[in-house]
Amino acid sequence: MHKTAKDTWVIATKGLTQIKVSYSYYAAELNAGSTFLDPTQLYINPVNCFFYDAAQAQQAYQLQLHIPAAWQIASALHFDEEHKCEIPNFERLADSPLICSAAIERRSYLVNDYSFHICFNQQQMIPWDRVLADFEKFTKRQLQDFGEFPSKEYTFLIQSLPYAAYHGVEHLDSTVIALGPSCDVFGSLYTELLGVCSHELYHSWNIKALRPSEMQPYNYKRENYAQTGLIYEGITTYLGDLYLLKSGVFNIEQYLIEFSKQVQKHLDNPGRFSMSVADASFDTWLDGYVPGAPGRKVSIYTEGCLLAFYVDYRLRKATKNKIGIEQVMKTLYFNFGVAQKGYTLADYQTTLENLAGASFDSFFADYVLGTCAYEALLQEAFDYFGLQLQQNPSKSYAEARLGMKVQQIGKDWQVMSIYPGSPADTGGLAIGDLLVAVNGMRALPSLDHWLAFYENQNKTLLIERNGRLLERFIPEVDRHFFVTHQVQLHTERIAAQQKAFDHWSN
Ligand SMILES: [Zn+2]
Repeated sequence: MHKTAKDTWVIATKGLTQIKVSYSYYAAELNAGSTFLDPTQLYINPVNCFFYDAAQAQQAYQLQLHIPAAWQIASALHFDEEHKCEIPNFERLADSPLICSAAIERRSYLVNDYSFHICFNQQQMIPWDRVLADFEKFTKRQLQDFGEFPSKEYTFLIQSLPYAAYHGVEHLDSTVIALGPSCDVFGSLYTELLGVCSHELYHSWNIKALRPSEMQPYNYKRENYAQTGLIYEGITTYLGDLYLLKSGVFNIEQYLIEFSKQVQKHLDNPGRFSMSVADASFDTWLDGYVPGAPGRKVSIYTEGCLLAFYVDYRLRKATKNKIGIEQVMKTLYFNFGVAQKGYTLADYQTTLENLAGASFDSFFADYVLGTCAYEALLQEAFDYFGLQLQQNPSKSYAEARLGMKVQQIGKDWQVMSIYPGSPADTGGLAIGDLLVAVNGMRALPSLDHWLAFYENQNKTLLIERNGRLLERFIPEVDRHFFVTHQVQLHTERIAAQQKAFDHWSN
């Protein structure tokens, strides 16, 4: 065999009717999308370690696992007693991860005759009653809006890890979630568990069944670029959490904490003035999950979530609170998803306009394809629901007064982010600089205390950059940076706001 592309080999079969290929795969990474093997588990994401015959993507597969007798298999695939399974085509195989281990605990629940399975791998002390009650609530509420589920069964595969982790990947009728540390999963991480599970479940409709035209069908050989990340990730981010509120799993305070995080991320990111969310959708394939060049890009999750909130408000206002964004998704699901037809950004706009009876031209031009500031849009939507944006200066002097976020690395403080136009920026600091001293005083034990000690005075910072010690003069200005934003319920809501809020939150 010889290689013809980064992921393609040609085999000269010379008329043979059968060939056997043996290969080994390095499986040492454990996250929600990887393949991993150690003495305690075999975890496979077929899309990254099984190959397929490019000429025959529709051919059937037989998969047989050779695993210890005490191990169970958790997967959307059904294996027989010999651990064998028949799979109709490559797409089904590629989209069906599996975990085999002796430490799988599972429970199931039924909603409208659809079966949902929750499988934890290596998680101790699971409070099943609470977990099942909460999962059933958000599943029911999502199903209520669509009226049907795209498959008969669905499986949550949860990899509980002993270290900090937060990652989820959606599949045809399952999801893999990596979460940790496992000692906190039902404590401080429980809202994260619910958030990511509700998000991934919503993907069953929004990206697995209903897909952009560029992903119908998927191309396994290259990036599947589309402009519509604000729909498949943005709306999923918005509604994943909103369904936790609508189903009573979250109360309004818990919901607004999560929503405020998106508002904060958006307003803290100067990249919002340089890249549109439609363009960001392309770059998600390239550097979407790392910080990348500072001030360059935006997130389809964050920007998409906030634009979904605005669209939800516009629909509710236009229809006197009769319908919201969930109706847009239901319409798209039946017109495109069930019909197995890919959608475009224009299809989304047309569907919105038909349901709202109003034009969204300027919304798409300015905010989806453009880089206009969101503040006025958000304020309009907050007013409608009786919400308000509470702003407070950051408690960190470095953030609030100098416009830089820092993180302690050993005995030094490293610059992680710089606000454009702030003293840190105009004073010539750069991301990655190590801050050593303030006005000749070693910045220990706290940089912030030394900065505040010289409050309202210009400062000279000693920094280390690429092995050189440099001095930088940092001016003080009368302006705040990295302001904290919290969305709250307005204490005095008028009747119209209360009505809109009730429809939106229930
Ligand atoms: Zn997602």
